[in-house]
Amino acid sequence: MMRVLSGVLFSLGLFCGSGLAQSKPCTITDHGEYTKKIKEFTTEPFFSTELVDHLPLSSCVPPPDAFLHHIVGAPDVLDYTKDINAYFRLLASKSLRVKVWSIGTSEEGREMLVAAVSDEANLAKLDRYKEITARLADPRGLSDAEAQKLIAEGKPMYWADGSIHSPETGAPEMLMELAYRLAVEDTSFIQKIRNDSIVLITPIVEVDGHDRMVDVYLQHKKHPDQAPYPLIWWGHYVSHDNNRDNLGVTLALSRNMLKTYLDFHPTVMHDLHESVPYLYIMTGTGPYNAWLDPIVISEWQEMAYHEIEEMTKRGVLGVWTHGFYDGWAPNYLLSIANNHNSIGRFYETFGNGGADTRVRTLRPPDTSREWYRPNPPLPKVKWSARDNTNMQQSAILFGMNNVASNGQKFLNNFYLKSKRAVAKARTEGPAAWVFPADDPRPAEQASLLNLFELQGIEVHRTEKEIRFPAADSSHDSDGRREKSAEKSAEKPGAEAKPKEEKKPAETVIPAGSYVVRMDQPYSRLADMVLDTQYYSPRDPRSYDDTGWTLGALRGVKTVRVADTVILDAPMRKVAKIDPRGGIDGQGKTFLIRHNTDNTLATLRFRLPSISMEAAEDSFEADGLKFNAGAFILRNADRTQLEKAAAELGLHAHATNANVAVAAHPISAPRVGIVHNWQNTQNDGWFRVAFDELKIPYTYVADTWLRENSNLREKFDVLILPPMGGGGAAGLSAALRGLPMRGGPRPWQNTVDTPNFVAPGLDSTADIRGGLGYQGLANLERFVSDGGLLLAVQSSTALPVAGGMTEMVNVSDARAMQAPGSVVLSTVDDKKSPITYGYDDKLYLYFRQGPVITVGGAFGGFGPEEGPGGSARSSGRGSTSDPDVIQARPYMPPEKPVKRTPHEQELYVPEDLQEFARWAIPPTDEQPRVVLRFAAEKDLLLSGMITGANEIAEKPAVVDVPHGKGHVVLFANNPIWRAETTGSYFLVFNAIMNFDHLSAGVTPGPPSSPTTKAGDNNDQN
Ligand SMILES: [Zn+2]
Repeated sequence: MMRVLSGVLFSLGLFCGSGLAQSKPCTITDHGEYTKKIKEFTTEPFFSTELVDHLPLSSCVPPPDAFLHHIVGAPDVLDYTKDINAYFRLLASKSLRVKVWSIGTSEEGREMLVAAVSDEANLAKLDRYKEITARLADPRGLSDAEAQKLIAEGKPMYWADGSIHSPETGAPEMLMELAYRLAVEDTSFIQKIRNDSIVLITPIVEVDGHDRMVDVYLQHKKHPDQAPYPLIWWGHYVSHDNNRDNLGVTLALSRNMLKTYLDFHPTVMHDLHESVPYLYIMTGTGPYNAWLDPIVISEWQEMAYHEIEEMTKRGVLGVWTHGFYDGWAPNYLLSIANNHNSIGRFYETFGNGGADTRVRTLRPPDTSREWYRPNPPLPKVKWSARDNTNMQQSAILFGMNNVASNGQKFLNNFYLKSKRAVAKARTEGPAAWVFPADDPRPAEQASLLNLFELQGIEVHRTEKEIRFPAADSSHDSDGRREKSAEKSAEKPGAEAKPKEEKKPAETVIPAGSYVVRMDQPYSRLADMVLDTQYYSPRDPRSYDDTGWTLGALRGVKTVRVADTVILDAPMRKVAKIDPRGGIDGQGKTFLIRHNTDNTLATLRFRLPSISMEAAEDSFEADGLKFNAGAFILRNADRTQLEKAAAELGLHAHATNANVAVAAHPISAPRVGIVHNWQNTQNDGWFRVAFDELKIPYTYVADTWLRENSNLREKFDVLILPPMGGGGAAGLSAALRGLPMRGGPRPWQNTVDTPNFVAPGLDSTADIRGGLGYQGLANLERFVSDGGLLLAVQSSTALPVAGGMTEMVNVSDARAMQAPGSVVLSTVDDKKSPITYGYDDKLYLYFRQGPVITVGGAFGGFGPEEGPGGSARSSGRGSTSDPDVIQARPYMPPEKPVKRTPHEQELYVPEDLQEFARWAIPPTDEQPRVVLRFAAEKDLLLSGMITGANEIAEKPAVVDVPHGKGHVVLFANNPIWRAETTGSYFLVFNAIMNFDHLSAGVTPGPPSSPTTKAGDNNDQN
């Protein structure tokens, strides 16, 4: 059908763009050929709406098929990033209704875009509209009347972004058609969106992973006889977890999207995902993030139900909400919007992992009718890429039309949320968060505060000491000096209760402290990341981490101040903070306190040829105190060191004093980070941390370990990040790897797969076969020959079940639920180099296990008199009553001996002492519990754990000698999502001291069990 438009539309300014023939009006007709193909590729009429069942044809602006040579949603074809970006640029060159900007590049150098689509008059005034949203985002000093004028003048902005997850390929294609349709279609529905809002589109968020996915998909299309490749790397680092980076903001895509958000302040940010059938529209089950303004909770519901209703009215099947994801953690990409007072939301559209058309069968719960899914998906249906395009495009158009039609309401809500965020300091509180000037980790403190600056959060610095009357205990600001500041840092976020007898008369904040005020627009974001989290076990099972308190995880002191007096204290806003570093004193020996600032590890590797030593004990020089682990540099070049210290925010003291303390060299060892060919997500967080800190490593595959028998020749340290599952199944999977069926499967760049390998990633002639028995043997030999094998979480099963760790066991938790929480640990062995620089206590990120136990040479030495009385037999009375055996005189049981966990682990019954001499290794071959989870009552800081007794007081980090080398096991994940920078140094200490990990151990026969207790157990 031809529909030539009337002259009325010509007069609206519908002209070709880019200087092309301003005189020549554009005509809009129906693109019959395209429309025909849409119908052909749509499998069922109930997977489409009138909004997307056709495409208009403009005489000025090329439709997608003119450039791509296929329609959007065509079967068996996907487009590369450069082509999708080129189509957006083509649109911008041909239409005054489209503008395109680069928003930065990815790790591998691919370009990310944002396109704006709106009426040409709106785009001509885009800077003004950005000014308005920016002013509403920060309404300080704005009267309500002025705000209303801005709202009346402004336009809401709706930002749609595609494919942060690389196997979810529909959105980048759909967004091309959407942009075209919005630019050219003349229905009143589309005109409403164009005239009364500004649509922003980022077609691909994860551009690196997208191109690898297109390689995988098209390779399989060309070679259907071969098994499809696994998508080993999505983006450069962390696969699916790229959508969990909004607290660490360490990936290029997070930084680019955040910067773009802060440039436009879009009203809505909408991520397009693919998974569950057929279209899930995000609201979530709750618990919702408790720091957000409740207005946004209503907005999620209102928008979701509007779209569901419009789709359902048209007979579309399987559009629903609620029962997927919770809305608690603030680490998703869409959190950028929610955390900055806008609306962040997402869709999950059904997908086939590419552009295949396939029959899909479903079963409950996907097909069950629920209150939140009254119109559920069918048990069997043919599903196509075009169905996917129809569903998400239709629904998001309803969403965009809703926002355009109610633009004043949405802008007013945005203003209200921003205004109430500024009022937070004086309404719900707290007034501020303080970062004391005397934090012993200035580089890490600066790193966290600079992260705030990146997030748009203002940071101030106190000009002089601030004193104000101490608040009452229910309202205690706990900003007291040193002692009490430290106390609150032990439990960041907790309003520490002052000891009754020593209640200070006033609160003192030292001059030069940093203050994050809660009377600023992004107060809620700052508060939600610094506060502690309580996740009720009664709530639905969490979708992601339940706790994330950044001060605790980053080892940075924070003080929650409730007293609003602080808001009136003199302070000035600071920009990016460069922690001051340098050298004081004179002399040939340089001393650097070990404060676990991660840049200290950078220093070691930055100056690899300079010899450095670690003090094995604390000592004094020139009247100054230095701790165990302090760096000693004799005869280093002062100029070189000074430059490095200044840039890394490290402080060195030069002296000619005779430094007489036991010390050993600190290495700059050759480190390998191990990966397999199935899932690289967890190792990605290790790589990004090492890359940022400029700590060199080789990325090495399990299959390579199998093929190279002399690993010690090439490496000093091998790191096994969490890889796959733990336990017997995990070990089996690690040994077997990808099945050896078919021919070799190279992972290399070829004509068919030009994007498989990038610098920093790995390649091989064959990805099959895993570590194998030979690889396990090679690893054992590596450790025996003096290497350090560091195994994290699920990977601990490999060296333990592989027989490298005497007296150690790992197991899965039986009933414990710990879905990503912040927990307390205590340093169990202060002499171990792994603990250098740390205080007695340390907060860790912990997720589910494994449970590591030490001892057990005689089997089953658990805490026998523990709660629950599991030690007593069935019989009379209660668990705490004595068991009375009948028909003989009552003989009271032996009084249970209270032993520390350390004593319990090494305990040997008296009558087995002689046997123990042979059964237990000498002290310098025994496992060393370095870090231990706190007692159950002290364990949880943030998040949720049930059944915590399974890990309470159990080892968190264990160092096990084996041959000439060591195996170090982590039950926690020390390098997680760039959030746990406070525990990174456990890894760096282990690495740099890999050949001196036994420092502090006195060789000798097995310790006498009942007499020698751990002398350094810190039982609080
Ligand atoms: Zn996804």
